[in-house]
Amino acid sequence: MIVLKIGGAQGVSIDAICRDIAALAEEGESLVVVHGGSAETNAISTKLGSPPRFVTSVSGYTSRYTDRSTLEIFAMVTNGKINTMLVEKLQGYGVNAIGLSGVDGRLMVARRKDAIRILENGRQRILRDDYTGKIEQVNAPLLSALLDLKMTPVIAPLAISPLGEALNVDADRAAAMIAGALHATQLVILTNVPGLLRHYPDESSLISNLPHAGLERALSFAEGRMKKKVLGASEALDMGVSKVIFSDGRIDNPLHLAISGKGTVIS
Ligand code: ADP
Repeated sequence: MIVLKIGGAQGVSIDAICRDIAALAEEGESLVVVHGGSAETNAISTKLGSPPRFVTSVSGYTSRYTDRSTLEIFAMVTNGKINTMLVEKLQGYGVNAIGLSGVDGRLMVARRKDAIRILENGRQRILRDDYTGKIEQVNAPLLSALLDLKMTPVIAPLAISPLGEALNVDADRAAAMIAGALHATQLVILTNVPGLLRHYPDESSLISNLPHAGLERALSFAEGRMKKKVLGASEALDMGVSKVIFSDGRIDNPLHLAISGKGTVIS
């Protein structure tokens, strides 16, 4: 069982990834797909006249500031457009994909971060109207039932709070939680870089292998959203996933190459 996170960064070849998913499914592999949508949400929200806003927490993580109208745009783009188009493409390649977000059937339950402490111009401020969550529970039986029906779940990064509020969640960490809950053997994260780079953006500084214990240090050279991937990798390994692979989603056969060890293998 493999959990695959497909990034939305520029250059990622959705077509090559979907073709490779189909080939892997044909070989009898069970797959769960998780996708993001940050870049596209930024573009569409800007077109709609509500450009994205980002905040940096006091611990140094950057995330989208998601008020109610941003949440609605995020749902429209990720669960509406991106999810449907991925399912369409996979169906076109013969994969019986089924799209859902963490809101459906309480697939992902998250705690709403109702007060986030941010840094703004060097000063601390508390935000209270943010619809962002940290996933605490995954409905593994629901995913197992879909897999038993030979379907390939394609999951958008939204979760539901215990009170029934839809929340924006980080797709890399969602993929990690799902991999952990399903006892997946591997979590593959495809993005627009060859893997984790020691000296970003120098692609010749690719780190091929990283022990779990080295992840803490890796946080220091992962910038921006790459930090969330490193955090997700650590969470997945803590939950018993044996291997996390960051690999290039811009090339042909990206999934087979990742599984064969191309990229950064963390174990
Ligand atoms: P996705 O949408 O595919 O999840 P992100 O934009 O969230 O992609 O994350 C991938 C990006 O992380 C890369 O395009 C790169 O700009 C950035 N990055 C920051 N630090 C590093 C690093 N040390 N190694 C590789 N990529 C890094």
